[in-house]
Amino acid sequence: SKALEIKGLRKTYGNGFEALKGIDLDVNEGDFFALLGPNGAGKSTTIGIICSLVKKTSGEVRVFGKSIDDDLANAKKDIGVVPQEFNFSSFETVWDIVVNQAGYYGLSRSLAAERAEAYLRQLDLWDKRKVASRMLSGGMKRRLMIARALVHEPRLLILDEPTAGVDIELRRSMWTFLADINRRGTTIILTTHYLEEAESLCRNIAIIDSGEIAENTNMKALLKQL
Ligand code: ADP
Ligand code: ADP
Repeated sequence: SKALEIKGLRKTYGNGFEALKGIDLDVNEGDFFALLGPNGAGKSTTIGIICSLVKKTSGEVRVFGKSIDDDLANAKKDIGVVPQEFNFSSFETVWDIVVNQAGYYGLSRSLAAERAEAYLRQLDLWDKRKVASRMLSGGMKRRLMIARALVHEPRLLILDEPTAGVDIELRRSMWTFLADINRRGTTIILTTHYLEEAESLCRNIAIIDSGEIAENTNMKALLKQL
């Protein structure tokens, strides 16, 4: 079955700029999918619409079969998102950021604490749990956003340029972590402009350019073309 179905998706911003010109995209459940494309292609706009942070102009988006127009609450429960920009309160501690996120999804205090501990340990942030987020390095902030996105154990994890500006060592350990999350059953979609990142993680890819899907194929076929 499908984790994501997008049909005829368009976005024209308030200034008249046509960021998405009617894109179609399917992602199967269990897939590790890359959305590739140059800066300004429309990747963040697409992700923003899937997560209901950006209002679409027209078209259809279904998450595990449910339209985001009809059933936003359910779609949100199924999705975890790691945005490009850090968007948590700089004074909150690492622990509070993850536990409070679990609270938004209605998890009990004890389950929230259990999950927060598990993910903070896996992402090597356990020692930083009492630290205010503003004190973290860029790489730690990225890992914190991943822990926060996973605490409600979504079926679909979406990451927008998760390793941008991250050094190669941390990038590799994030890849290992994400591959493991995917192996345990979570569908993952990431945007990237590192072909190497898509190559080492992803089975299927789409290339988006100027608001249109230029290519939709699997990684093996793409590499043969290059
Ligand atoms: P929407 O159409 O979804 O309501 P807007 O067009 O109102 O979005 O844009 C929100 C804000 O972002 C506006 O202030 C807009 O001017 C600003 N903005 C304009 N161009 C860009 C851009 N290239 N990247 C990011 N923000 C932009
Ligand atoms: P990508 O993530 O692939 O770099 P984006 O989805 O961020 O691309 O942006 C696609 C295009 O839409 C870009 O040309 C960008 O400048 C424009 N854009 C993004 N946000 C806004 C906005 N709020 N208002 C107007 N234009 C925007």
